[in-house]
Parts: sequence; structure tokens; C-alpha cells
Amino acid sequence: MKRRTAFQWLGAASTLLLTLGPHELARGATIVAVRMWPAKDYTRITIESDAELSAVPFFVADPPRLAVDIEGIELVSALRDLIGHVRADDPNVAGVRVGQNAPNVVRIVIDLKRPITPQVFQLAPVAAYQHRLVMDLYPTEARDPLEELIAQRLRELDQAKPAPRADDPLGDLIAQLPSEPATQTPRPASAPSPAQRPETYATDPSAPAPREPARPTFTAKQRPGAPTTGGRVDRLIVVALDPGHGGEDPGAIGPGGTREKDVVLAIARLLRERINRTQVNGHTMRAFLTRDGDYFVPLHVRVNKARRVEADLFVSIHADAFYTPRPQGASVYALSQRGATSAAARWIADKENAADLVGGVNMRTRDTELQRTLLDMSTTAQINDSLKLASVMLTEIGRVGRLHKPQVEQAGFAVLRAPDIPSILVETAFISNPDEERRLRDPRFQADMADALLRGIVSYFSQNPPLARSRAL
Ligand SMILES: [Zn+2]
Repeated sequence: MKRRTAFQWLGAASTLLLTLGPHELARGATIVAVRMWPAKDYTRITIESDAELSAVPFFVADPPRLAVDIEGIELVSALRDLIGHVRADDPNVAGVRVGQNAPNVVRIVIDLKRPITPQVFQLAPVAAYQHRLVMDLYPTEARDPLEELIAQRLRELDQAKPAPRADDPLGDLIAQLPSEPATQTPRPASAPSPAQRPETYATDPSAPAPREPARPTFTAKQRPGAPTTGGRVDRLIVVALDPGHGGEDPGAIGPGGTREKDVVLAIARLLRERINRTQVNGHTMRAFLTRDGDYFVPLHVRVNKARRVEADLFVSIHADAFYTPRPQGASVYALSQRGATSAAARWIADKENAADLVGGVNMRTRDTELQRTLLDMSTTAQINDSLKLASVMLTEIGRVGRLHKPQVEQAGFAVLRAPDIPSILVETAFISNPDEERRLRDPRFQADMADALLRGIVSYFSQNPPLARSRAL
């Protein structure tokens, strides 16, 4: 289906006019549902209807608000419900107003808490959804994910620790860590010079973050055995955890109504706790979640987030599903460049890759182009390392639960395409199997699974020491 979005700046009025079309006026369209997904990354508002809506958005910068005129409909209670969906803790949206602006035209005004770059687009019916009008409200000054990682740590750690310096938040992240054993290699007394740090960060939460953080220079990473200070690699290990799905995309849904997006987030959070209090060969580990809430994150954004925090590993966490209740057990997947290792693996990869369709990606954004470039950069070395990780992970998971298959499989998972980060996807259990659905909800199983995933990560790093970084950490 063709979609054309025209952007026009009406500079003097500071008004952004977006025109969606062409389209037929959806006379008599029925609003099926309205949803809001607030998150720090962005807040999404979705209006689902049984026919494509004709919407004309206007962005007004001061005070920041987005107005959207929806033509061809009358004000109905479903739209008024949107007002009640606004949460006080929404980082982006202050409130919503809805009114009949003219006969057959409903105006929605979204009052914003900060400057926003809106994306308004239509999604054709897919999966259980009918037509969707999507309003994504991105903070104009986006947070850097590494800054966010640091902010998470600062919230968790004792406030009595020294305050972070404005010029070296990552260094301060380490400084704020709990006291470490005397066997730890001391980190350099002086902070790395600006020349050693490709990125700059602001630690003041209200300060603007870089719009487009510099991508780490992975080529500068040293191989083990390369000269390092004191003859050993002294650095922080960052593990990216990627809870699948979220927001508009519930993932698979069990017969009892359990949603994949909820249980995988729970497991990821448990695993984060464990990683953050674990050391490997004296290296402190830190977990970074690509999604820490119920909102949708496109697959390529998950990959990019992991790259921006210079993750050493990427572990995508999912729950499997099939049309029949019998299939059971966990599976571990790595990327394949040349087709899937089985028809089943290809089927799973296709299913997981469809997340962007269900979750809803604005296909007009430049990011999707970047992702295609990234896709071509995947390397054999990454896949070899991923297979090592997948193998130890499968062994550990097999100790706490059933395995679907005794060997690692490979397929073209979009989320495993970081060319420089060993990446695996774990299907923790079959949510479509009533017994395993119960387990997935069970805190005991979630903890066991997190323990197993942690052991797999530790085992991997024990056998494959992390590479030195180009900058002192
Ligand atoms: Zn999934």
C-alpha cells in the first residue's frame, strides 16, 4: 500500500504541517480503540479504526503541542477516552484535548511537556489490528542510551557517593560502583582525555543530550593479547539485554492470555539485577536494557542502542509460540548470513522479524535506510562468537528447563545484526504450551531462567575475555 507523507515548514508560524494522503475520506469510519504508550524514548498515541482516517496534523512549537484534525468522523466516546489515557508520569505528554472542530472534523490537541519532533503516519491492517493512525512524539533532544544507563545506575546506587562530574559520566559510573575487592586492577587515576573519548555526554538530566551520539569506533578495539596497561584488559563489560516486542506489539499470547512482551521484560529485569552484581575475572558487568517499559522499539533501534553503549554482548529474550499447544522447550538462535539452518528456524526468524509490522514503524524515516547498510556489514567473526555464546547458553538453559532442540540454530534475525557484537536470541519457552505459559508467569521459573542466562554470559566471558576498549574505562 502506498503511503505518502509530505512535510512542510511554515517557518514564520513555527508550525509543522504534515499531510497524510492521498486517501479516501473515511466517512463513517468507526474508532475501534485508542491507546497510549508513554516512555522516555517517545510516547505513542494510536487511534485504531475500521477504515483509514484522514488526518491533518499541525505542530505548534510554543507552547509545544500537536493538533491533529481527523476528518470524516464525529466525536465519539472512544476518542474522548484518550483524555483518560494520559498518565501523570508521561515524560512527553501533559494532556490531551478532544473536540468537534467542524462538522465531520474532530480535532485532537496534545499538550506536550517538552519540545517534540512528531511523526504521524498510517499503518495498514496487520495481525489483529485494523487501520492505525499513529502519532509518535519523540523528544527533540533525545537522550543518549549510555547516559540513560548511567542514570539508571545513579538511581540504584547510594546517593552518598560522590556526585558525577559533568565531563566524564562513564568514568563516574565506575567511580560510583560499590567498593570492589582489592584484587581489582585500579583504574587510571586521571580521567581519559577528551581525545580518547569519542562521545561527550551531559549528566544533568535537564541538559540537552547530543542529538546524534557518535558511534563508537569498534575498529579501535584491541584484540586480547594486544598491549594493555599492566598487561591485562581493564574495562567494564556491558551486556545489552533485549526484551522482545512491547507496546503495540504484544508478541505471542498464551492460551491463558499471558503476553510475551510482559514475561520477557520481567526476565530481562531479573537478569539485569544479576548482571549488575556479578563480576567476571575481576571485570565489573553492567546490563543495559534496549526496552525498559511497555512500549515498542523497532528492531534496528534495538541494535543501534546496543552499539551506542558499546555492548560486549547482545541477548534478545523471547518466548516461542506455535499454532498447536504441544511444542515446548527453549531454543537459542544466532544470526545466519546464508539462509536458515532449518525451516523451523526460518519460520521463527520471519515471525520475530514481523515485530516491526505489528509494532508499527514509520517506513519513511532515515533510520530504516541506515539499518539496511548495517545489515550488509554483518561479519563471519560476529557469527562465530555468537555461536560460542549460544552454545554455552543452551547448555545452561538446559539445566533449568526443557530444550526444544539440543543444538543452536541460525536464521536471519534482524535484531541480531550488530556487526560487532556477539548476539543471540533466546526463546525461553513456548508460551503457546499451557504448562510452559504457567512457568513463564512463575517468578521461580523467571528467576531460574535469569540465573541460567547469567551463567551462560559468565561462562562465555570466562572463555572469551572481553576486548580492550580504545578508551580507558
Ligand atoms: Zn518474540
